[in-house]
Amino acid sequence: LLQLSVPLNFIGFVYREIRQGLTDIEEMFDLLEVKPEVVDAPDAKELVIGKGAISFKNVHFAYDPARPILKGISFEVPAGKTVAVVGPSGAGKSTLSRLLYRFYDVQSGTITIDNQDLRTVTQKSLRKVIGMVPQDTVLFNDTIAYNIRYGRPSASEGEVTTAAEIAQISDFIRHLPEGFETKVGERGLKLSGGEKQRVAIARTVLKAPPVLILDEATSALDTTTEREIQAALDIVSKNRTTLVIAHRLSTVIGADEIIVLKSGAIAERGTHADLLAQNGLYASMWNRQREATQAEEHLKQVREND
Ligand code: ATP
Repeated sequence: LLQLSVPLNFIGFVYREIRQGLTDIEEMFDLLEVKPEVVDAPDAKELVIGKGAISFKNVHFAYDPARPILKGISFEVPAGKTVAVVGPSGAGKSTLSRLLYRFYDVQSGTITIDNQDLRTVTQKSLRKVIGMVPQDTVLFNDTIAYNIRYGRPSASEGEVTTAAEIAQISDFIRHLPEGFETKVGERGLKLSGGEKQRVAIARTVLKAPPVLILDEATSALDTTTEREIQAALDIVSKNRTTLVIAHRLSTVIGADEIIVLKSGAIAERGTHADLLAQNGLYASMWNRQREATQAEEHLKQVREND
């Protein structure tokens, strides 16, 4: 039993790591001798990164051929701009980010970065230029400094500290028993979802990638944490091509374009103001979420006055 459970645990760990995009995926697959979902073309070239313009052209995708998930998606994220994807649960939002990171290949259509089809470049060179802040960051059982430095192992102590400041997590770290040397992870200090996300942001600050994918956590964050994370994200995504998979509408207000995805197709698109004026799906999502936030703040006030 022991013999069996160890590898299974390990596969679970590796799987999570791969999903988070934190490790050298090809190496992991080699280690496990499993066939990866995506294989480099024999003549794959290195991605030559310019300003990092992203384009999805008529993308179709299904995990299971019997069940199409994306049904002809086209949009662009111009270099340095931010596009946010919103929509009901299961619409296919995170799938877009997984395709951009090339965990899977599209069934038809193309995804390009700086006009290079992702299927023609090496996965390694692709992932080098993309920073991913995933929904749920897995922390290593090591110090918080190690976890941040993972974004760029050669980073100096000063750079790690600055990254933590930008990610709005340095105050939290300073109050830990051993500061940056505090052990975190499953066998160390457990961090909250918001704290883990800020560690992931700090990693990304160190990596300084031209392209950024932010996959927001679905879990509700309190308003203060949400504001802090938003402030950190604003700094990180500035002048970087950014695709945001948004669950909180507060994140999307400033986006250059918002794509509203519904059942794998684009239902609406435009800026926040455009979409409110359209008075459609986005407007109703916005109103619902605003009511929820107001209710939360009201409840907080009532509690504080008690
Ligand atoms: P949410 O807001 O709930 O995170 P989403 O819009 O991000 O949803 P996706 O995660 O893109 O949705 O999933 C779209 C659909 O694809 C869902 O119905 C989901 O069940 C299915 N799906 C996701 N991952 C896989 C997978 N690895 N294998 C099979 N089906 C999957």
